[in-house]
Amino acid sequence: MIPPEALAIIKRLWGFDTLRPLQAEAIAATLSGRDSLTVMPTGGGKSLCYQVPPMVTGRLTVVVSPLIALMQDQVAGLRLAGVPAAALHSNLSAGESAEIRALAASGELRLLLVAPERLLLPDTLAWIVKMNPGAIAIDEAHCISQWGHDFRPEYRRLAELREVFPGVPIGAYTATATPRVQDDIAAQLHLRDPVRLVGRFDRPNLTYRVLPRADQVGQIMDSLHRHKDRAAIIYCITRKDTEILAGALKAGGIDAHAYHAGLDASRRTKISRGFRDERVNVICATVAFGMGIDRSDVRLILHASMPKSIEHYQQETGRAGRDGLPAECVLLHSSADLTRWQKIMRMGWEESGAGPEVLRAQYDLLDEMHRMVTSKRCRHAAISEYFGQQYQPAAGATHCGACDACLGELNTVPDSHDTARKIISCVARVNQSFGAAYVAEVLTGANTRKVREWKHDQLSTYGLLKHFPKERIVGYINQLIDAGHLARSPGEYPVITLTESSMPVLRNQTMAVLVEPKLTRSESRTGAPPALAGDESALFEALRALRREMAEKRGVPPFIIMSDAVLEEICRVRPGSVESLINVRGIGTRKADEFGGEIVQAVRAYCQNHGMQLDATQGSRPRRHFGDAPRMTAGARDAAPLFRNGQSIEEVAVALGRARSTIADYLEAFIRVERPASVDAWVNPDLYARVAAVMDELGPGRFKPIFERFEGRVPYDVIRIVAAHRACAQAADR
Ligand code: ADP
Ligand code: ZN
Repeated sequence: MIPPEALAIIKRLWGFDTLRPLQAEAIAATLSGRDSLTVMPTGGGKSLCYQVPPMVTGRLTVVVSPLIALMQDQVAGLRLAGVPAAALHSNLSAGESAEIRALAASGELRLLLVAPERLLLPDTLAWIVKMNPGAIAIDEAHCISQWGHDFRPEYRRLAELREVFPGVPIGAYTATATPRVQDDIAAQLHLRDPVRLVGRFDRPNLTYRVLPRADQVGQIMDSLHRHKDRAAIIYCITRKDTEILAGALKAGGIDAHAYHAGLDASRRTKISRGFRDERVNVICATVAFGMGIDRSDVRLILHASMPKSIEHYQQETGRAGRDGLPAECVLLHSSADLTRWQKIMRMGWEESGAGPEVLRAQYDLLDEMHRMVTSKRCRHAAISEYFGQQYQPAAGATHCGACDACLGELNTVPDSHDTARKIISCVARVNQSFGAAYVAEVLTGANTRKVREWKHDQLSTYGLLKHFPKERIVGYINQLIDAGHLARSPGEYPVITLTESSMPVLRNQTMAVLVEPKLTRSESRTGAPPALAGDESALFEALRALRREMAEKRGVPPFIIMSDAVLEEICRVRPGSVESLINVRGIGTRKADEFGGEIVQAVRAYCQNHGMQLDATQGSRPRRHFGDAPRMTAGARDAAPLFRNGQSIEEVAVALGRARSTIADYLEAFIRVERPASVDAWVNPDLYARVAAVMDELGPGRFKPIFERFEGRVPYDVIRIVAAHRACAQAADR
């Protein structure tokens, strides 16, 4: 379908041996002259789809892209890979523009990135017609639809392109579009019978945790501790929120920076540069941050409040784990967020003077988001279904294993029904006339002037919950609102009121349930640090430092030089020569020429000093996958003595009262950490030998082919145990 010379070019320039799903189809569509609409999740590799055709045809491709920062990074990356590219935007001097025009006229330029408003200037358009482009690509194409979440009126005019370039294939690309928005994109751009390529919306390397907000700063600190010294973005609703939060985190010893559009330009640039160059790791930002950020090793995206649509959520969480390595997305929500967004949307709408349908469309998107966060369904499934796709867990699994719902991470609060009754009764006692914070103050027995003035210190409910922090009670009130047992009045000063279902709870006819997150700091399942053995991960840090230096020297962001995934692979392979470096996935010849010498030198020096073998067979240990626990969690530590006694998974599951699958995770962690000489207690030696033989034959990597080879008769648990044990044995051999 895609010509062999295209594959050779991809291998040579980008260093990829294989294509990601739909990339071949998208490239082939353009090469055959057809229009196309490609919807591919963030990190799915959209850029390659429009970057390859001009290298095959030798003709210019014009790429419409909305953000200058993004364009500049992309151009820098392309040039490093050896692709002649340039960006045309309003920040260029006349001289720079002229240079680009000359390059295009000489026929050397392959990719020209340009903002929509710039492209449609009559002068630019006429010039591009003369350049006779071979293809046009429209990035972030959802911006053309008013049903989408990021409507930009200037995109509407792109419809002209179809007429101005009748014979040129147009490809539209986006990461987030419901089926309705997809139709709208094709219609608005006047695409001709486009090839429609819609990828999987699911991001299996992300673990979603959607949690009721209880003690916000504490919850955020806990999440950050799971990803120490790694990149994290915390999204807040308002500018003020970002500053308050960054302040609170700083006070807690975390080097967090606020970022929003209200900061002056130099400060903004400083922070986003710092983040890009890996000098800054934690950012508290409004949604304005991230649009121009391409750092691929973001390990945590945290929403301090509910986002305003599932599209936004998908796009913002899409910035996590673009390197394909595990990453975590935490969303803290409370029903107060809904009211806040409605107010913000209404204000924006009143200012805009748009028709009522525009506000309605925004409210609808908000409602969908709210429904998702308040449900306890699998998050992977909910997101996929929202974008019109059915969710399929990995083969052999019954659930995603990577969201709060499926991991069973919510605990029911002990005595939650009683606690709920105390809260409801307090709402009644204060005459349904106060906000959540005040109700919580009365319940905790706060001695404030307001309480004394209203004589609420004389209520029977005063101080009934004094052993709870106030924030937690506010969280419970929000949960009761979500469950319909209480309500919040609309308006600027919302008060908490009773509902039809309040009395049944007070009378014990309906049982109220309150939940709280079970997760603690030590119970991280996924995320940093990467699943490398001790020495390898120290090498990883050394190479990261080298990458930072190389990036600084060239004035480009480090991720452009190579991603964390590539660095990890280098640590596993430990190439002793540039020739063997080229075999690492993600290293093209151009990059090998430019950086190979320095990298190989660093690897050699490191391995020599640490007695590590060079040119270890590629990926000699199993790849990281979900449930892989680099260190032992608290739960695994509890289980360890039982494993040492040789107890079976079933026995330990009964003893600890945990699910079998959880105990299997613990066992795997136990094996990796304690490296027992034999695993006969869990896998009989004969079966071990047969699984090991298949592993040798199929090579390292995913377990699915092994599982399939045994036609499903050998459970994944057994395969994982064997792999873990062999990995330790191999590490010990070196
Ligand atoms: P998107 O624009 O869809 O968010 P990108 O084009 O930025 O995604 O690609 C995401 C990452 O995936 C980049 O680091 C890119 O180098 C990498 N990538 C793209 N195609 C492939 C491929 N075929 N094999 C391996 N990595 C790829
Ligand atoms: Zn799930």
